[in-house]
Amino acid sequence: MISKKMQDALIDQINAELYSAYLYLAMAAEFESKNLKGMAGWMEVQAKEETAHAKRLYDFVNNRGGRVTLKAIDAPPLEWETPAAAFEAAYEHEQKVSAMIHNLVDIARSEKDKATEVMLAWFVNEQVEEEASTSEIAEKLKMIKDSANGLFMLDSVLGKRE
Ligand code: MG
Repeated sequence: MISKKMQDALIDQINAELYSAYLYLAMAAEFESKNLKGMAGWMEVQAKEETAHAKRLYDFVNNRGGRVTLKAIDAPPLEWETPAAAFEAAYEHEQKVSAMIHNLVDIARSEKDKATEVMLAWFVNEQVEEEASTSEIAEKLKMIKDSANGLFMLDSVLGKRE
């Protein structure tokens, strides 16, 4: 059986993952509005992954005999000035999520909850990937600056994400 403290912390993380999904869907909508279909598609895949992260935590809490109660999801920003600003915001967001996951590991350790600690190892690794991919795209967009050619090329590459 999971402790109340650990359960509540994981429920907060379910909310954070669903907010991430909402944030990336908002970014997808922004890219759609600018005809950047590849970037929109990339963000849609990202949003789906975040929903899967929430479900992974949801299943875990249930399997441990906990009770999931869902909270309101904050509204994401409405728009971003440039694609670079959106991916920079995505990278900043992923760094915040990493800090939240690391905090959950600390709670699992203080609760002596080995099962949660082991489950969270997957998320620790996943965050390394999330930070790397968003930061790489943000850096490329910085290099591209105002080049329409560069933007079209990167959009087409990002559209290949499955
Ligand atoms: Mg996530």
